[in-house]
Amino acid sequence: MSILINNVSKSFGNFRALDDVSFEAPTGALVALLGPSGSGKTTLLRIIAGLEVADRGTVLQEQEDITSFSARDRKIGFVFQHYALFRHMTVAQNIGYGLKVRKTPKEKIRERVDELIKLIRLDGMQGRYPSQLSGGQRQRVALARALAAEPKVLLLDEPFGALDANVRQELRKWLRHLHDEIQVTSIFVTHDQEEAFELADRVVVMNQARVEQIGTPDEIYDNPATPFVYSFLGNVNLFHGRIRHGRLGLGNTEVFVPEHATTPDAPAVAYVRPHEVKVRVRANAAASIPATIQRVNSAGPTVQLELTRVDDSTPLTAELSKEESSELNLTIGATVYVELTKVRVFAGDGSPPEDGNGPASTGSGGTPPAAAVSG
Ligand code: ADP
Ligand code: MG
Repeated sequence: MSILINNVSKSFGNFRALDDVSFEAPTGALVALLGPSGSGKTTLLRIIAGLEVADRGTVLQEQEDITSFSARDRKIGFVFQHYALFRHMTVAQNIGYGLKVRKTPKEKIRERVDELIKLIRLDGMQGRYPSQLSGGQRQRVALARALAAEPKVLLLDEPFGALDANVRQELRKWLRHLHDEIQVTSIFVTHDQEEAFELADRVVVMNQARVEQIGTPDEIYDNPATPFVYSFLGNVNLFHGRIRHGRLGLGNTEVFVPEHATTPDAPAVAYVRPHEVKVRVRANAAASIPATIQRVNSAGPTVQLELTRVDDSTPLTAELSKEESSELNLTIGATVYVELTKVRVFAGDGSPPEDGNGPASTGSGGTPPAAAVSG
């Protein structure tokens, strides 16, 4: 069953928590709502669940307008970050609770609970109490409880947020498999981009009450639509400069920004990912930004080079393969020459707008093409 959010806005007093938000969760998809704390993710999830009322906009479930439906009439399951299981109830009683409240026959409840216990791989633990389970096991029980009444849509609000990194990783894989098995349309809230990218078919990036970008993990990684998305995905080099008639100066090189060919003079920010920074021992037409090696970190599958530009001392990170790194024979303090193989430029200074509640992008809007770099 699909979920369609149309132009939803919501304020708490003077504070706008959601500002004209629209997105779709197609039938059977796993959609991630990704954004920093306070961006409105939980508010949006609560509106979908019917636990909160939108000021404007509609929520459609399979073409049916459910905006005014009560939570109970929505056939939606909900898992929270701290889903307090009933402490005095066993695993089986917790999972079956909702069915019992609905006066489902005992035999039916037992069947369904057995089925779910298998699904969450807790066979033999149905008689345990929550205090006898690990955090990861408890969240699996919470998930089974949400699934018990066979919801058409499953909403998960940072369900692994309180768990250790390695348990989170494991549960992430498990949830992905589980979703492939049961195919319930699911909307998953997280502030962790790695989690969103690994789990989701589609990611909705949120910032300050608004949607910044919607796409598959690949689309968003390859083409961040705004400076915010670039920064939020992390691990990127940022340069400040000025666009003059379609050219942005970066050290001794210039980047062409065709969509700003007629701009006489405007501030701009340029983003380059560490693996898009090539390092050469000698300068050439392409590698023309001199930089000094500050640190070489070769722990892990690749080598991270921390550099500072000779001209203005700005820091710069390059990521090389182990082979490239050993061929270059890198030493701390040495000068190398940097080539930027892919640069993305946004007009503006990259800072959020004055109105902290408005759109975060001061960029040129839309998806910028990868700029060409000239030597
Ligand atoms: P997220 O889940 O992305 O962290 P939330 O949806 O919880 O964000 O909150 C978005 C903003 O709305 C926050 O600044 C929060 O303080 C505010 N907010 C959420 N719920 C309420 C409420 N019931 N009353 C007042 N402000 C709220
Ligand atoms: Mg939240």
